[in-house]
Amino acid sequence: MKDDQPISTDILVVGAGNAAMCAALAARESGVEVIVLERAMEKDRGGNSAFSAGAFRFAYNGIEDLKTLMPGLTQEEIENTDFGSYPEEHFINDMFRVTQSRCHPELTRKLTKESLSTIQWMQAKNVPFVPIYGRQAFKVDGKLKFWGGLTVEAAGGGAGLMKALHETANKEGVTMLYEAQATSLLSGEQGVYGVSLKRRGKTTKIYAKSVILACGGFQANSAMRTRFLGPGWELAKVRGTRYNTGDGIRMALDIGAMPYGHWSGSHSVCWDRNAPEFGNLTTGSGFQKHGYPLGIMVNANGERFIDEGADFRNYTYAKYGREILTQPGQFAWQIFDRKVAHLLGNEYRSDLVTKIKSNTLEELTAKMEGVNFETCLKTIKKFNSAVRTDIPFNPTIKDGRCTVELHVPKSNWANTIEDGPFEAYAVTCGISFTFGGLKINSKAEVQDTGHNSIPGLYAAGELVGGLFYFNYPGGAGLMAGSVFGRIAGEQAAEHAIRRKSTSK
Ligand SMILES: Cc1cc2nc3c(=O)[nH]c(=O)nc-3n(C[C@H](O)[C@H](O)[C@H](O)COP(=O)(O)OP(=O)(O)OC[C@H]3O[C@@H](n4cnc5c(N)ncnc54)[C@H](O)[C@@H]3O)c2cc1C
Repeated sequence: MKDDQPISTDILVVGAGNAAMCAALAARESGVEVIVLERAMEKDRGGNSAFSAGAFRFAYNGIEDLKTLMPGLTQEEIENTDFGSYPEEHFINDMFRVTQSRCHPELTRKLTKESLSTIQWMQAKNVPFVPIYGRQAFKVDGKLKFWGGLTVEAAGGGAGLMKALHETANKEGVTMLYEAQATSLLSGEQGVYGVSLKRRGKTTKIYAKSVILACGGFQANSAMRTRFLGPGWELAKVRGTRYNTGDGIRMALDIGAMPYGHWSGSHSVCWDRNAPEFGNLTTGSGFQKHGYPLGIMVNANGERFIDEGADFRNYTYAKYGREILTQPGQFAWQIFDRKVAHLLGNEYRSDLVTKIKSNTLEELTAKMEGVNFETCLKTIKKFNSAVRTDIPFNPTIKDGRCTVELHVPKSNWANTIEDGPFEAYAVTCGISFTFGGLKINSKAEVQDTGHNSIPGLYAAGELVGGLFYFNYPGGAGLMAGSVFGRIAGEQAAEHAIRRKSTSK
């Protein structure tokens, strides 16, 4: 294609992350022609999906379901691991619980019901899956035990996921256009019929029978963050891609789509205080700091401000970034002692992170930049004397090992911080993606402000609103993108075929 020559296709997918590639592959199954537009250069393709850890949350009833995804599991692995189960009802309950019952019931049921069959479909499309031994299992009585409903990741994480999806798309005849930024939708009385785009400094149009928007949220747009999430959000660090600047959402709203979901909400986590403004694919998720349930977090005043053990980290990490953003100076320090340091994830071992290690608490707190160390020492001493040491510590269950009579309690996994050496890590708010976006129905058709489907327009992934509010169960983002991406691809193909037959 010449950069400024208009062309036509059956299906045009905007974006080249997980949701987009699932949509493209599903559409190709009907034999229709598919073009994918990626704003980034080929080496930076794949959006947040490429930055992700590649963890997928799906309903499964036990090892037999997992074997369909990971046929390479050895008998020894199976015998030495307690993979548990995660029935559909648990997935639904988790969605309603963490979103304070705001999640859209029909979309949520679609997500949970089709999660297993969709991830099996991805496996059949050559996406390799492996157990998340490193981050989601602890050894108990000689056996690895999974916790928190999250068991499987794409081999090679987000990079592996995107490599596999792109390789399959290439084999299946999907056309990729890189450095191609969709700028507006072409629409008329019959609905959407293509997009305008910018490619390498030229503008042109691509005409399509169906358009699928899968080009992410608005987290990389600091003005939109501040406008919709609130003051101070321009100061958050973007964990992932710099390319998700809300284009898809804006383009759809411009033609009358319905804004939907938690527009002032986002998935935001503890992220290294000195991380760069945007993510980069070399460090990936290396700046995240999800180990706080094992220790405590203090702010600049030297005070604790959240219950670090309120729930498994899978159910709290996505909302604690926001809590840090509201602290003085928008930072906090995570503190651990020798008893738990060996349980922290690999990201705590990287040279990149802002870390302090000392043999005494006095020395440690004095080195923690920006913190009132006298108050911090008092906070730690008070915390230590409040820990119910009579309750055994067990990181694979909500062990109830709590504190007593603290203004800010710790409900589980409370361990005293008294055995040196001690470690402390400086964190700030890292935003992963935004929750507000477009309204779709269970066929992934974009809804307009009159609650009708916009003919020819489909959406999937981060730019869909209505699934996540306030919080998020880890691994649900990729799964939602895959489920609704696949549906969008199938429906868009059907629509294209109908349009073709009526135009003959
Ligand atoms: C560091 C990190 C770790 C994460 N780990 C996990 C995890 O383990 N499990 C999980 O479920 N979720 C995880 N997430 C969340 C997850 O990455 C997202 O929910 C998911 O990847 C969103 O997929 P998507 O396809 O909607 O968007 P993306 O993967 O972001 O894809 C959007 C695409 O659109 C392109 N684009 C944007 N604008 C335009 C335009 N105008 N024209 C053309 N192309 C455009 C982008 O370049 C990109 O290719 C993580 C997020 C981050 C940041």
